[in-house]
Order: sequence, then C-alpha cells, then structure tokens
Amino acid sequence: MAFHSGFVCILGRPNAGKSTLLNALVGEKLAIISPKPQTTRNRILGVVHLPALKNKSGAQIILLDTPGVHRPDSSLGRKMMGEVREAMDGSSLILMIVDVTHRPDQSDEFLVQMAKRSGTPVFLLLNKIDLLRHDKSKLLPLINQYSKLPVFREIIPISALKKQNLDLLLPKIVEALPPGPRYFPEEQITDQPARFMAAEIIREQVLHQTSEEVPYAVTVVVERFEQLPKLTHIAAAIYCERPGQKAILIGQRGQMLKKMGTAARQQIERMLGTRVFLELFVKVRPAWRESREFVEELDWRRHLDQLVGARQE
Ligand code: GDP
Ligand code: MG
Repeated sequence: MAFHSGFVCILGRPNAGKSTLLNALVGEKLAIISPKPQTTRNRILGVVHLPALKNKSGAQIILLDTPGVHRPDSSLGRKMMGEVREAMDGSSLILMIVDVTHRPDQSDEFLVQMAKRSGTPVFLLLNKIDLLRHDKSKLLPLINQYSKLPVFREIIPISALKKQNLDLLLPKIVEALPPGPRYFPEEQITDQPARFMAAEIIREQVLHQTSEEVPYAVTVVVERFEQLPKLTHIAAAIYCERPGQKAILIGQRGQMLKKMGTAARQQIERMLGTRVFLELFVKVRPAWRESREFVEELDWRRHLDQLVGARQE
C-alpha cells in the first residue's frame, strides 16, 4: 500500500493547547508551553513517523503548531498571524482545537469561519476533557452545537496533556492524508535549529518566572552557539522594552537571571546531550514589538543560509 504523508496545521485560540498537542503527538518537547497567551510566536514543525503495520501503510504526519489566533495590535502580532496563514496555506488538514472549559464566543466563531474559508478538511478537537472530570455531560451540548456546523469532518474529544484519545486521532489523521513521499528522514522530528530551540527554552523560563507585562515584552536572541569538544558555549541576549523590566529580569543581586539561567541550562543540556556553558545578558530595546525590521530579524528561517554556513565552518 502507498505511503501517506502531508502537512497538518494545528489551529486555535491562545491557550487552547496547540503546543501541548504537538509535543504529545511527536513524543518530544519541541514547543514551549505556558498558561500565558502568545507563548508560541512562530510556526513550529514536528514530524510523526508511523511505521507500516500488517495491513496498513507507513505514514508521515508533518504537524505545524501555530501562534494563537488573535486580533494583532503590533508588528509582532501581525507577524504571528502571518505565520498562522502560511501554515494553513500548505496544509492538507486542519486540526482546530478548542478548550472545552470555555464557553464558545465570537472569537471561536471567527476561528470556525477562518477554518471553513481555507477550503481544507477540518477536524475539531475538543481539548482538556480531563478538566471536566465528572462533568462529562458538558461535552454533549458542545458536540451537538459544533456538529450542526457543516465544517468539521470529525469531532474528537481529547486531552493533549493526559494524552487521552490521541490513539484514536492518529489513524484518522493518516486516513485524511494523500499518498505522498517521505519528506523527512526517519531520525528527524523538527526543522528547528538547536540554537533557536535554546532561545525558546530560555524564553520559557522568562514566561514561567515573571508576570504582568514582562513575558510579552521579552524576546531572546542567541548571539553565540559554539559546540566545543567538551561543552557547548551559548551566549544569549534577553531583550525587553523598558529599564524597569530589565531590573525585574535581573532581580536583586542578579538572583532572577541566575535562577532562569540555571533552569534553562539544565534543559538545554538534556536537549543537546552535552554540557552547556550559558551566558545571559539583558538588553533594553524600546518598543521592539512595534519594529517590523526587528521582528523580521528574529525569524530564524530568514537566517537559514547563515546558520547552515556557520554549521559547515
Ligand atoms: P497553546 O497556546 O494553544 O499552544 O497552549 P499550550 O499548549 O501552551 O497550553 C496552554 C495551557 O493549557 C498550559 O498550561 C497547558 O499545560 C494547558 N493544557 C494544554 N492541554 C491541556 C489538557 O488537555 N488538559 C489540561 N488540563 N491542560 C491542558
Ligand atoms: Mg503554543
């Protein structure tokens, strides 16, 4: 039987659980997670390799996790929504994911229209069913409401966090994919360069350790990434927008920066399988989120030639 493959876009509002689903399906942490909206700022590619079984062909599902759909109010926000559209454009299937603990509103309606207009088949995933516990009766009205819309090919309740019903979801995704090539070699699960993943791991610490406006005003740029024989030397700049934010990020006597650095270093060491020497700096760049030029600079896909060049040196 023919090999099946294709691109599958994960679409949803901020905080619905898109990145958690990506990580759960791929089986590795490729995308950072936090309860704060706008954690994911780029589309993130993750590959699920499915071997051929008795009467089933092998398959490759190329998942694209995307930033949450929202009304953009900055250059950064517009860039994020651009990432969503690009991911949708090349996809054979859309997984629209909603949080079942939230009552559907206008933003969900907008999302449904967006999915419908794409002309691509859409599965609706009702996520976080683990939170309903004994309240599973809440699920039925939601399923009824959504199944009235002529948009969804499947409606599947899941828990991305507890990995519930993902075994049901996977074969349905494969069925929806056309025959196609093996786009990625079997050992490859993402296209993200390690240095970008390191920057994201550092940003995740900022999301976890700081509050109010600080997480949204921060971006991380890896300025040096050098794999030496015994360790990897990484220097990264944490950009924020105001001196007050810088003071918070550094903390009293540098405690905050040290705490974030230690936690990030341990995770990067696990990811790379080497020891890591991590240097963090905090820099202020007023209103960087409004700067189209700076926001474009942050996109690692724009630096691919440079990155490949650096690796070959
Ligand atoms: P995204 O913004 O859509 O990518 O959402 P994330 O994957 O970053 O998750 C947002 C928050 O929801 C995090 O705190 C997750 O731990 C949580 N979350 C995601 N999926 C589930 C789920 O199935 N059950 C529960 N209880 N929490 C979830
Ligand atoms: Mg996300």
